[in-house]
Formats: sequence, structure tokens, C-alpha cells
Amino acid sequence: MRLILVGPPGAGKGTQAVHLASHFAIPHISTGDIFRLNLKNGTPLGIQAKSFMDNGNLVPDSVTNEMVRDRFTHGDVGNGFLLDGYPRNVGQAEFLNNALTAANTPLDVVLELKIENEAIIKRLSSRRTCRDCGKIYSDTAKKCESCDGELYQREDDKAEVIKHRLDVYAEQTAPIIDFYQKTGLLKSISALGEVSDISKRAIATLTNGN
Ligand code: AMP
Repeated sequence: MRLILVGPPGAGKGTQAVHLASHFAIPHISTGDIFRLNLKNGTPLGIQAKSFMDNGNLVPDSVTNEMVRDRFTHGDVGNGFLLDGYPRNVGQAEFLNNALTAANTPLDVVLELKIENEAIIKRLSSRRTCRDCGKIYSDTAKKCESCDGELYQREDDKAEVIKHRLDVYAEQTAPIIDFYQKTGLLKSISALGEVSDISKRAIATLTNGN
């Protein structure tokens, strides 16, 4: 299955992506995770992306698209993939379409996670992330239960940056919903409720189309 998850920051794309990628046995490709890994390792890509990320802005398309193109050269995408956090604007969606059309591997489905801004702000401001494996927790957790890593609050999960990220989403990313609606690939579910219920909803929609 070739799948894209779309939705505003804080909709739970990362959390659902892990469940869905495991369920459908496809690699989870998160451009945010790739940027964060590069940042942590101090690579030129990470250094280039840092100021955009810390301020809640999009990393320029030239950088992001090439990074995704490179990721698609890895052999694990033969069986499909789940893209999380990409595309983030219509230019990226067009770039992706062209790349997939050229490879004769078109998208199967785009799943939108729907949630209101008020719920997002509540979620993101209490979100903590494992510095080592990237797993997501709430602010009541002390350590990562998977790898014992330290939990931290992402620079871009701080209140003043969240608002800006929501503006960036509304202005730049939301238009891709329309773009995919027109292709007939878009399916939408509510991103409210327990993580396991949202996963069930997502799998039912992706499997049965409802
Ligand atoms: P995320 O973890 O998906 O919320 O991404 C964190 C940050 O990485 C974003 O706020 C952007 O600065 C950057 N980023 C991730 N994906 C993209 C993308 N597709 N295009 C541009 N910037 C991105």
C-alpha cells in the first residue's frame, strides 16, 4: 500500500503512522523524523533545517524534495510506504506525483486526520518526545518506556511556536487536502479519542473504504 497521512500538527500522525506501518508491513517515512535525526547527528542537512524547524517554518522544498527522493532509493519501499509529514504544500504534492508517476508506482490512498485547533493546542503543549527513539508521551511521563531515553519538549511544541505552525498548516498545507480530494484518493477520519480507537477507525477506512 502506498499511503499518505495528512492532518495538522498534533493530529497524531506520528503515533498512528507507527501502528499503520506495522499493520500493513510498510516502512514509515517521516520527514520530520529524518530532519530531527540529521539535527541530532549534526549533519549539513540537519544544520540547514534547524532554524526553519525551531521556528515552526517549512524547510525549503528544494531540500525536502531531494531528501524524499533519496529516501525512495532505499529498497524497502518496494512493497509500499507510509508518508507522514510529507507532502506539506501543493508544490511538494506535485513533485511527489511526478516522481511516483515516473516510477509507475502511483499512490493508493491519502488519509486525513481531522481535528480542531483547540484540541491540537492542548495536545501539543503537553507533548513530550523521547530524545533517543522519538516516541511520543504526555507531560506526566518521566522516561521513555521503550529505551529509557530522556523526554523533552520539542522547541516547536512550545506555545508560541504552536500557533505559528497552525497558521503555516492552514496557509500552506491545508490546500493539499483539496488537491487530493480532486484525485479521488482522499479519505477522512476523526482524530479525536483514544489512540487505539483512532487506529481501528483508520484501519477500517483503509481496508474497507468506510
Ligand atoms: P513534524 O515532525 O512532521 O511536525 O516536522 C517537524 C518540522 O520539520 C516541521 O515543522 C518543518 O520545519 C520540518 N518538516 C517536516 N516535514 C517537512 C516537509 N514536508 N516540508 C518542509 N518542512 C518539513
